[in-house]
Amino acid sequence: MVADRLRDIKSHYDVVIIGSGLAGLTAANCLAKCGRSVLLLEQHYNFGGMATWFHRKGGHIFDISLHGFPIGMIKSCRKYWTKEISDSIVQLKGIRFDNPQFQLQTTFDRQDFTRILVEEFGIESETVEAFFDAARGMDFYDDQSMTTRELFEKFFPGRSDVVRMLMEPIAYANGSTLDDPAISYGIVFSNFMSKGVYIFRGGTDKLIYMMRQELKANGVDVRKQVLVDRVVVEDGTVRGVMANDKFISCGAVLSNANLKTTIDKLVGHDQLSPEFVAQAKAVRLNNSSCQVFIGIREGETLDHIGDLLFTSVDPEFDSVRLCAKDVTSRTFSMYYPDTRPGSNRYAVVSSTNANWDDWAHLSEDDYQTEKKHLIETTIAALEKYIPDVRKKIDHVEAATPRTFYHYTHQAMGATFGTKFEGLQVSMDLPKQIHGLFHAGSVGIIMSGWLGAINYGVIVANEVDSLCHEDGKSEGRMAS
Ligand SMILES: Cc1cc2nc3c(=O)[nH]c(=O)nc-3n(C[C@H](O)[C@H](O)[C@H](O)COP(=O)(O)OP(=O)(O)OC[C@H]3O[C@@H](n4cnc5c(N)ncnc54)[C@H](O)[C@@H]3O)c2cc1C
Repeated sequence: MVADRLRDIKSHYDVVIIGSGLAGLTAANCLAKCGRSVLLLEQHYNFGGMATWFHRKGGHIFDISLHGFPIGMIKSCRKYWTKEISDSIVQLKGIRFDNPQFQLQTTFDRQDFTRILVEEFGIESETVEAFFDAARGMDFYDDQSMTTRELFEKFFPGRSDVVRMLMEPIAYANGSTLDDPAISYGIVFSNFMSKGVYIFRGGTDKLIYMMRQELKANGVDVRKQVLVDRVVVEDGTVRGVMANDKFISCGAVLSNANLKTTIDKLVGHDQLSPEFVAQAKAVRLNNSSCQVFIGIREGETLDHIGDLLFTSVDPEFDSVRLCAKDVTSRTFSMYYPDTRPGSNRYAVVSSTNANWDDWAHLSEDDYQTEKKHLIETTIAALEKYIPDVRKKIDHVEAATPRTFYHYTHQAMGATFGTKFEGLQVSMDLPKQIHGLFHAGSVGIIMSGWLGAINYGVIVANEVDSLCHEDGKSEGRMAS
């Protein structure tokens, strides 16, 4: 018998949240702490969206998106989650680059990058400082016509090696290309450069467990394996959602589903102005990803070769090549036992950027062949750093854009939501339909763990204000 995932739900909630990505989870927590009744609906059997993990036979555990985030996560988690969550965030100090243009190790912060740019790349220190200041000074309301390519050309003309060092890690971190607005690079780059790269010690499983405990303590009604089919709108106002064939009444809906899916499928164009629909249609999705999960047999060990290894044999940085199926530019995330204190296990996860179209339409046979090729080329690349790794591996598997689509319903498996223009559309949604909000990876700058959490907070505040205003007007009508 199929379990009734919506058993005992209330007849009405202040807010229904669609999706338990980091933006949805954080918004739910903030709203519950403001005293709102909140129902969080997640279609998957796990919570966390892309912030997730999985187990495999042989005692393996793999994290999907725990590779690195900026220091801002410490403050955001302390303020909007708990001190315990925030206290588990630790710095990764061994960030390595290995490509035909340079080999180096760095702590990935402004001071060390300045040293490298001046001492190893021979750039004038005034130029480096001016570049950092320009990147740091960018904000959403600036002129957005300058591209990242133009920004680099302004400060480091003809220096493809410098461009590679500054750009490649950020392209992995938010999917931005040289042709995206410079601001989408500048904000994320500056966030990392402030104090380096951090991860959550204990693994994603522990983080999501702690978040669920906190949601429970704050009274959020959390349901998994509930797919929301539709947001119900009448006379331009949200009335509720349809999920698992049930109508659930609410005063506001916050969708953490992909922005385009929210607009095209959950809401539908007939509820929106033609101008807004045209604007939403023009929003481009960001690229997707491939990953190879490499499990090391129990009892085997790996030498420390760095925490994050950006490796490539491509001659120069190239945004198009970075997503190609025969990509050689990849990030190896090394999981040593201290990732999960108390464990003695090692794992390696390789991540590459990828195009949905290269993977989506393959026949099943071709798909399996391409996955095998991806696994083989990845292990071959890893052997350069750990020559005997093959004999230590006892589990390996690959994920592709199809995998990310399957588990999160992100349109085209988009790893980082939408391109820059998606942010305005996401922010304008409540102006179209009273009580409808969106929070989640959009606009490049609001993506990644930190971006998703912070956007969840921003939108939760707007939802709370609306609940407050609507409550006042109901009170006025009743009196
Ligand atoms: C391979 C990879 C590596 C990454 N590495 C990093 C990294 O190192 N650092 C970093 O900061 N970020 C990283 N990211 C990005 C980061 O994980 C995401 O930007 C962030 O987790 C997205 O959160 P979100 O809230 O926007 O949405 P998502 O995580 O996409 O969550 C959306 C949720 O909504 C649910 N949902 C969708 N539709 C419905 C529906 N109709 N009904 C019910 N539920 C629904 C989905 O199942 C999902 O749980 C990585 C991502 C990938 C894929």
